[in-house]
Amino acid sequence: MPEIDKNANLPHFQRKIISEYLEQNDEFYNWIKDIFKITSIELNNEDYKIFEEIKLNIANINNFPLELSMLERLFLDRNRANSEKCIEYLIFRYKLRVFPRKKIASSFPAYLLIEPVSACNLRCVMCFQIDKSFTKKPYMGVMSLELFKKIIDEAVAGGTRAITMASRGEPTLNRDLPKMLEYTKDKFFEVKINTNGTRLTEELCHTILGTGVTELVFSIDAEHKDLYERIRVRGKFDTVIKNIKMFNEIRQASYPDSDIVTTASGVFFHEEQDIEKYTNFFTKIVDQVAAVAMENRWDTYANELHPEETAPCEYLWQRMYVWFDGKCNPCDVDYKSYLKVGDVNKRSIKDIWNGELYKKLRNDHYNKKRNNHSPCDRCGVY
Ligand code: SF4
Repeated sequence: MPEIDKNANLPHFQRKIISEYLEQNDEFYNWIKDIFKITSIELNNEDYKIFEEIKLNIANINNFPLELSMLERLFLDRNRANSEKCIEYLIFRYKLRVFPRKKIASSFPAYLLIEPVSACNLRCVMCFQIDKSFTKKPYMGVMSLELFKKIIDEAVAGGTRAITMASRGEPTLNRDLPKMLEYTKDKFFEVKINTNGTRLTEELCHTILGTGVTELVFSIDAEHKDLYERIRVRGKFDTVIKNIKMFNEIRQASYPDSDIVTTASGVFFHEEQDIEKYTNFFTKIVDQVAAVAMENRWDTYANELHPEETAPCEYLWQRMYVWFDGKCNPCDVDYKSYLKVGDVNKRSIKDIWNGELYKKLRNDHYNKKRNNHSPCDRCGVY
């Protein structure tokens, strides 16, 4: 029986529930093994190699090489009737989770995080949006619909399977967000939106549900109005809760078959935050709760150096960020883009992902020289 995925980004109480669920489901893993017995499937060379590797793994150790998370299970369960789609999905998840561990770069980024806007309407106390040297030009701006479409067209042609609509800013501040979402419809396995939930409207709820967004993450750190408003400065707790409930009502009334998963995601760093109360409160109004501990300062550049840390950062093999103006970066921890790897206005996504700057970063990290790069020399991501 596979163990629970340690990287599933779920709090322990949910892991327990899933663990019990999985134990009743040997049949599920047998079904996955069965679909890999397929004799003919059209895949490109890279994907076919992964397909063969998974098959070999199943044949040699009678097991599937990925411990599936709850969201992966849900996707597969919902698409059981389409074996080829499930295989393609598992190949994508393999690239996303196994390639970074093995330090293999796919030929094209399987996962892109695209920033509709870099500004935010809140000033959370643990966020780089309170860095006054950041909240001005050249860092602040809005992505044009034209640039967004160009990125999506390249991503689809190249083989990106998942996108997140957010990075440094609040995506609902871009008035073209509904048109952007329309443009992503039926193009990816996963479309995720990270939002603070303050500006959700009825119309936007319909667009999110109608365009097949797969995950809507509400960034919210407390179940208590007073604490929430002290952490998420300028945010109104009652408005966010009202908006989440409005989303649920629209979903239930008009999109009962929607596959979307809603998440409450909290950053835990304040002594008054209580993970259990938080979970009890939010599990009543969202599908899942994710709590992450804040280990480093929000203003990355002011962190202490850690010359003794040499483990490579897996982001370099897993994902790429595209800022509002087309600049590309390996992460948003480096929110001022000291590590900039290219610009989609000047080069293709494929060229940037396989370019010299990215290669140098990957090589240095792989060879225990991450400290040659700032802010990798002071960042807590591995
Ligand atoms: S180590 Fe930190 S700063 Fe460097 S690429 Fe990874 S997340 Fe970004």
